[in-house]
Amino acid sequence: MKFDTKVVRAGITPDPTTGSIVPPLYQTATYVLDEVGKDKGFDYSRSTNPTRQTLEEQLATIEGGKHGICFASGMAAVDSCMKLLKAGDHVLCSDDVYGGVSRHFNKVLTRYNLSFTYVDTSSPDKVREGIRPETKMLWVETPTNPLLKVTDLAAMAGLAKEHGLLYGVDSTFATPVFLRPLEFGADMVVHSTTKYLSGHNQLIGGVVITSREDVFEEMKFIQKTIGAVPSPFDCWLTMLGVKTLHLRMARHASNAQVVAEFLEAHAKVERVTYPGLPSHPQHDIAKAQMDGYSGMISFELVGGISAGRTVMNGVKLCALAESLGAVETMITHPATMTHADVPTEERHARGLTDGLVRISVGIEDPEDIIADLEEALDKV
Ligand code: PLP
Repeated sequence: MKFDTKVVRAGITPDPTTGSIVPPLYQTATYVLDEVGKDKGFDYSRSTNPTRQTLEEQLATIEGGKHGICFASGMAAVDSCMKLLKAGDHVLCSDDVYGGVSRHFNKVLTRYNLSFTYVDTSSPDKVREGIRPETKMLWVETPTNPLLKVTDLAAMAGLAKEHGLLYGVDSTFATPVFLRPLEFGADMVVHSTTKYLSGHNQLIGGVVITSREDVFEEMKFIQKTIGAVPSPFDCWLTMLGVKTLHLRMARHASNAQVVAEFLEAHAKVERVTYPGLPSHPQHDIAKAQMDGYSGMISFELVGGISAGRTVMNGVKLCALAESLGAVETMITHPATMTHADVPTEERHARGLTDGLVRISVGIEDPEDIIADLEEALDKV
C-alpha cells in the first residue's frame, strides 16, 4: 500500500459480525472468559482492548514501525519511555523541548535519581561533547516546540549507536506524513496524538512506536502495569481522525508556508521561524529529511512582548489557545502558556523570549487567516 492508502485503511478491516466499515467501539473494562484460563485474547482493558489495538496497529503502520503502544496523553508516552531507564542514568535531551517535557524531567524524574542535560541537538558536535559514561538515552524533539529547531536524525542515530544509547524522537510537530524517524535509525518515536494525529481538538492522547522487540515488550509491560491508558472512546476518535491525516497535513503545510511568507514580509515582524523558509537555520536539513514542513510557525514582533500581546488579543479567527495541530488556527504565547514552567533565565538562554508568538496554522482558507493576522498587526 502507498502511504496515503495506509493512512485511510491500515489496520482497519470491516467488523466480521456486522460488516460495519467503522470498527466497533469496545467500551468495556473486562471480558468474560469461556472457562478458567481460556479467554478470547482479551482479559482486562488496562492490558488490552480491541479498539486500542486497532489504533495501535494503524499508528504503527503509518509510522513504518512494527508496534504501537498507546497512552492517555503525550506526556504519559514520554514518561513511559523514561521508565526504560534506572536510577543513576543520564539523558541527553534537545534544549528546546515542549515545556511540559522539561518540567517532567526536572521536577519529577530527578527525584528518582535520573539526570538530564539539555543540548542543542541541531549540532552533532555539542551532542557528542555532552555524552557521559552514565548517558543511556538520547531524546530528540524535531522540529522543536516552540523554536522549530530541526535535528539531523541520521547524525544522531550514528552517535546513539556508537555510544549504545537508546534513541527516542518526539515527532509530534512533523507527523508521519512529513517525517518517519524510524527510517533514520530512531529506536522509538513518540507523538502527542492530542495534536495532528487526532486533529480536531477532541481528546488528549499519546503513542510510542518502535520496531525493537525488546523495547516493545518492556513498553507493553509498562503500559499495563502503570495503566496510563487511553479510553476506548478516545482511541476510536483518534482512529477516525487519522483517516484524513494526509489531507489535513498537506493543507496545514501549504497554509503555513503562505502565512510564514506573509509574516516575513511584514514590517512589524522582526523574525519568523518556519522550517519551510530558506531563512530557517536548518532549512537544508529539514528539506533533506522531511517531506513537508508542517503547520507550526513562531515569530517575534518589533516591539516585543507588548506588541505580541496586542496581536494575540487582537485576533478574531485565530483562537488564543494552548494546543496545536488541530483544524482550527491557534495562537499561543509560549512564555506565559505552554512554557510558563521553564525558568525565565533558562527560557531566555534558549532564545525563547517573552515576545515570541507561536501559531498552529489550521486548515481554513489561508486568505482568512492572513486577513485576521493583518488586522491584529494593524493594532500594534
Ligand atoms: N510533545 C510535544 C512536542 C508537545 O507539544 C506536547 C504538548 O503540547 C507533548 C509532547 C505532550 O502531549 P500531551 O499534551 O498530549 O500530554
